[in-house]
Amino acid sequence: MNKKQTLALYGGPPVRSTLLPYGRQQISEEDIDAVVNVLRSDWLTTGPNIEEFEDAVAARLDAKYAVAFSSGTAALHGAVFAADLGAGDEAITSPLTFAATANCLLYQGATPLFADVCVDTLTLDPNEILKQLSPRTKAILPVDYAGHPADLDAIQEIAREKNVIVIQDSAHALGATYHGKKVGSIADMTMFSFHPVKHITTGEGGIITTNSATYYERLKLFRSHGINSDARKRHEAGTLHPSGQAWFYEMVALGYNYRLTDIGAVLGLSQLKRLDANLARRRAIAARYTQVFHKVEGIILPHVSADVEPAWHLYPIRIDHRQLTADRAEIFRAMRAENIGVNVHYIPVHLHPYYRERFGYRGGEYPIAEAAYGSLISLPMFHAMTDQDVEDVICGVEKVVKAYARE
Ligand SMILES: *Cc1c(COP(=O)(O)O)cnc(C)c1O
Repeated sequence: MNKKQTLALYGGPPVRSTLLPYGRQQISEEDIDAVVNVLRSDWLTTGPNIEEFEDAVAARLDAKYAVAFSSGTAALHGAVFAADLGAGDEAITSPLTFAATANCLLYQGATPLFADVCVDTLTLDPNEILKQLSPRTKAILPVDYAGHPADLDAIQEIAREKNVIVIQDSAHALGATYHGKKVGSIADMTMFSFHPVKHITTGEGGIITTNSATYYERLKLFRSHGINSDARKRHEAGTLHPSGQAWFYEMVALGYNYRLTDIGAVLGLSQLKRLDANLARRRAIAARYTQVFHKVEGIILPHVSADVEPAWHLYPIRIDHRQLTADRAEIFRAMRAENIGVNVHYIPVHLHPYYRERFGYRGGEYPIAEAAYGSLISLPMFHAMTDQDVEDVICGVEKVVKAYARE
């Protein structure tokens, strides 16, 4: 019998009866109690939980400072401001990322340039960065794709030599380690996101970690309208401005309202207690996938570099078109029909209409990222997956890939 006939896409019974998403949050009763307590308190926003959350994240990641924001995107925008990028400045990032990594540069009038990725890790290739450097380059924004840290030693060396700032997009890599160091303690500034599909959530939220007191102060300024004192501190301390005016405040830079709420911060604090458990679960799922899939012909598994512990936000496989009779689109549809909620990360940023129209990209500029995009499929990967969910994914992948195997 033709194996394709057994696929749900062609009318066969699906592996699962309900769709398994590629990622989702996990909320405990303790999380709910913590949030309810904040709702009964005096401070719904910019209260005591913000600093407590920031201190806890900084301590967990071996960073001196952390500044929480209303989203990961707002945090990236803050980092670009803190690094003092503006019109005429350029920064280099990966095309294989979420649009926010490049958009944050445009918000401040700086120009994003892209450099192609390494074929194995799909993170920024240091040799490609060298090709994009110019006297205008002021920052490099490596992305820890799927939770695998970028090649930070090489990138930091380029940055030191050329006197540019490294802003690491570690939205995927909370809890990852690189050469024995925690991601979040290495770059000038590191961004993490607390969107529900990430390792811990605050609903919407993000944070920058840094070891620089200067960046720390600038990040806080930017987060709250560019106003250099906060109301709660003045209220608590009962201190007045030297002029004696209790109502005194000054706006010294053009900032935004990018504050995280206390409701989000307390949820983040509660979730942070489970970060190690979440990471262990994600690593166990990745190990199980790898154990089974390395024997399956027709798919290429995510690479792990030496002396790196990825955080496994995603488990992206690549279709080996030489060994299969179907393209990625067909495999994707077949997996979805089995109720395995696969996804694709990412459409390369320069190929989005906005970037094509504004910067004249036509495709073909970053062949490794573009080829990867043409074959990538993210399998479900989240810490709340049950063992049965994991086995369903394995069953779905084996069923679909075998149906399209070349003779
Ligand atoms: C999630 C994510 C962001 C943005 O985070 P938000 O909290 O959704 O604003 C930025 N970069 C990457 C790579 C992401 O995955």
